[in-house]
Amino acid sequence: MADKSFDLVVIGAGPGGYVAAIRAAQLGLSVACIERENLGGICLNWGCIPTKALLRSAEVYHQMERAKDYGLAAEKISFDLDAIVKRSRGVAKQMNAGIKGLFKKNKVTSIMGEAKLAGNGKVVVKTDAGEETLVGKNIIVATGARARELPGLEADGDLVWAYRQALVPTRMPKKLLVIGSGAIGIEFASFYNTLGADTTVVEVMDRVLPVEDKDISAFAKKQFVKQGMTILEKSGVKQLDRGNGKVVAHIEINGKIEKQEFDTVISAVGIVGNVEGLGLEDLGVKVDRTHIVTDEFCRTGVEGVFAIGDVAGAPWLAHKASHEGVMVAELIAGEKAHPIKPNSIAGCTYCHPQVASVGLTEAKAVEAGYKVKVGKFPFIGNGKAVAMGEAEGLVKTVFDAATGELLGAHMVGAEVTEMIQGYVIGRQLETTEEDLMQTVFPHPTMSEMMHESVLDAYGRAIHI
Ligand SMILES: Cc1cc2nc3c(=O)[nH]c(=O)nc-3n(C[C@H](O)[C@H](O)[C@H](O)COP(=O)(O)OP(=O)(O)OC[C@H]3O[C@@H](n4cnc5c(N)ncnc54)[C@H](O)[C@@H]3O)c2cc1C
Repeated sequence: MADKSFDLVVIGAGPGGYVAAIRAAQLGLSVACIERENLGGICLNWGCIPTKALLRSAEVYHQMERAKDYGLAAEKISFDLDAIVKRSRGVAKQMNAGIKGLFKKNKVTSIMGEAKLAGNGKVVVKTDAGEETLVGKNIIVATGARARELPGLEADGDLVWAYRQALVPTRMPKKLLVIGSGAIGIEFASFYNTLGADTTVVEVMDRVLPVEDKDISAFAKKQFVKQGMTILEKSGVKQLDRGNGKVVAHIEINGKIEKQEFDTVISAVGIVGNVEGLGLEDLGVKVDRTHIVTDEFCRTGVEGVFAIGDVAGAPWLAHKASHEGVMVAELIAGEKAHPIKPNSIAGCTYCHPQVASVGLTEAKAVEAGYKVKVGKFPFIGNGKAVAMGEAEGLVKTVFDAATGELLGAHMVGAEVTEMIQGYVIGRQLETTEEDLMQTVFPHPTMSEMMHESVLDAYGRAIHI
């Protein structure tokens, strides 16, 4: 096949790669984007979007079960797992088709195949039709990540699932073990628990959602336990004996091994970057464990080769990948590029109750040497939350006592994944407590709690 030259060749069409490709094309560059599986990557096909579709079904089911609380009647409530999964797959398919349309609109050359770097700007692509060589003045590696497999805890697709199997279950688990309480583990635990699975979550750290502020973890845990989940913290799954439609898990709890039986296990113990088979070593691209090493502009140190998104390391979030994609596209096009500020990237977990945060936890702020002012506001003090029947939640803010800088914001409760962006904008604009206190929040909204939490940090909260 004839060589094809582009200003930019992007490997991987996840939220990092496809966004980079579109932005570069907008800026007038000729762009090819190569994808070996699905346009939209993990996010649209096996991550963010299909999980949210499943969780939405669980949320509606939960609300139907609570119909009486709202003066309504809903009888013989049930669900059809196949239909829930079908809806989730349909949403993913719709999003995937959307990327195809966007590529066409922006004149991005989309190639389905497996790419490998061959040096001097060459990218060799294995497609169904054979091998093709592209040449890119610049190359972005955006190959993403996959589920981490721990020895003995590997997914088998039958009794032990990783996220891909957990998204397309062939049966409803009755007794479910979730290993790992990060965002992915807790979202699946929340989904299956709401639909009636007897769910146990095992977390090796001292608390669930271990990256969150400790007050938020504690609040969320209380709600999970109230919903019937068993939460085992400072515990580890050492072994899984599989057979006869069941799994016996050897769980270390307080230094002792307990054997517990489950019919399904979801392993959610992290992710590893897709760095293999790309020819990175031959080019001299540095890889640290399973992630490509980059500088703040996503440069790999090899001229013209960039790495973005999950393959370039934490935080493993779609919006981080996309932002890096835009930044690199602008850098290549000669625009002023703005490196990402890790402490201004929000993390959201769509369990029930939802969790969202940005910036430093109270503990991390103190560890970093700040003298802090902390504000807290409970959902029960907010009219809209009570009217919505969502009075369980907490908003916590952490300020630098010396300068009034908003160091971090942490939320648990209904709709917090939508609200957190208010604080993200605040951090981006480098607002201080004064700006936030002077801001008028509309009433009645749950966002008023964001105001009250700030006011509380300065002893001025009105509704508590
Ligand atoms: C269950 C689950 C839920 C999640 N929920 C959220 C959420 O709610 N919010 C959030 O922000 N993040 C969430 N994430 C994380 C999010 O999906 C990732 O951070 C995001 O997809 C990373 O984007 P990316 O472009 O770096 O990589 P990916 O989306 O992984 O895309 C990389 C693409 O590269 C392709 N590829 C790899 N190697 C090659 C090759 N050699 N040649 C051609 N193509 C190749 C892959 O097929 C893939 O399509 C979730 C993840 C999971 C697993």
